[in-house]
Amino acid sequence: MNRNELLSVANQFGSPVYVYDSAKIKSQYTRLTTAFGKVKNLKINYAVKALSNISVLKYIHHLGAGLDTVSLQEVQLGLAAGVPAEQIIFTPNGVSLGEIEEVAKLGAQINIDNLSILEQFGNKYPETPVCIRINPHVMAGGNANISVGHIDSKFGISIHQIPHIQRIVTNTGMRINGIHMHTGSDILDIDVFLHASEILFETAQHFDNLEFIDFGSGFKVPYSENDIETNIEELGERLSERFNRFCKKYGRDLTLTFEPGKFLVSQAGYFLANVNVIKQTTSTVFAQVDSGFNHLIRPMLYGSQHHIENISNPEGRERFYSVVGYICETDTFANNRRISEIKEGDILCFQNAGAYCFTMASNYNSRFRPPEVLWHEGEALLIRKREDFNNLIENQVVVDFKKVSTIEI
Ligand SMILES: *Cc1c(COP(=O)(O)O)cnc(C)c1O
Repeated sequence: MNRNELLSVANQFGSPVYVYDSAKIKSQYTRLTTAFGKVKNLKINYAVKALSNISVLKYIHHLGAGLDTVSLQEVQLGLAAGVPAEQIIFTPNGVSLGEIEEVAKLGAQINIDNLSILEQFGNKYPETPVCIRINPHVMAGGNANISVGHIDSKFGISIHQIPHIQRIVTNTGMRINGIHMHTGSDILDIDVFLHASEILFETAQHFDNLEFIDFGSGFKVPYSENDIETNIEELGERLSERFNRFCKKYGRDLTLTFEPGKFLVSQAGYFLANVNVIKQTTSTVFAQVDSGFNHLIRPMLYGSQHHIENISNPEGRERFYSVVGYICETDTFANNRRISEIKEGDILCFQNAGAYCFTMASNYNSRFRPPEVLWHEGEALLIRKREDFNNLIENQVVVDFKKVSTIEI
């Protein structure tokens, strides 16, 4: 999307507002499937938690993707988007057996990541094929909070417990139809990822009835012009070759599955906010926007550096700004960032706002969550309305103190 298109969205729908460019989602999807073009059966299951708007799910499904879900509610959103249950995989962590049973009833593929539930589910439903999530104990990125494959991570069943898994499978008579790993976000080193894949192949040999091997996700996307990103093309080349060799050895054409979230939607998203106040102190110039970590928490939660452009004055002289929000708490988006000169009333555009941005938004400070707009074939389509005061109070129950106590309020 260009600046004028973004400005037109801010004009039409007000600020703050999230905008997603469908063409970028499509080109990322094509890039991934092209990189793995040599694999006969490839399945991309989009990770719903990155951006879960039903219209976005519909669009991504139309491209050919299934869905990766982590809660019963995400499965229900997928079904509401028209995605058939057979194309939905449920990969929860630490949920109850009851929730897994409900999802299994809906017909989605179950992926289990602990021995206790595996045994309970296998005993009750030996006929329902199950995928197991393995922890290969490989660190994907540098950040231990978003890397979930390391030794003391809560995710997956340790590769050191394969004999235990096999005992459960034999005793229950259940069928394992998939093997899965997800080492977490930000794969920087392809060799590390391939090393984890080797562990998955070794694990797969212990199971005779597999239909797919799921390599999870964690592809790193660039946050600025010279930022590093996962080299998908190289990964495609090397992993495809290795996967095809494994299938020959295994004696069956398995499906290679990925479940990217960030890779498909991060760069497609823009967050637009209006500058309320320019505040000059003795050391800093603050640009304060009509938003905060209630709407975009990644900079405060993960230290993410979202590129910020002043689309109202893109050619202006650059100056240093700290971009902050209007929440009554520290909510810094950027410290001393070079941005073209900002005036009050300008619209700032935050990039990489497609993944884990709206889905992590809250009503903190009793602010409304922003609307979402899909930019599709040159048109701005509203896909979620801005909240209003009713959304803040609809579930609140106002106590009539006179009736229940001695005080009069
Ligand atoms: C979050 C998640 C993903 C998506 O990760 P990205 O970094 O957004 O690609 C995939 N699989 C599982 C199991 C997840 O929890």
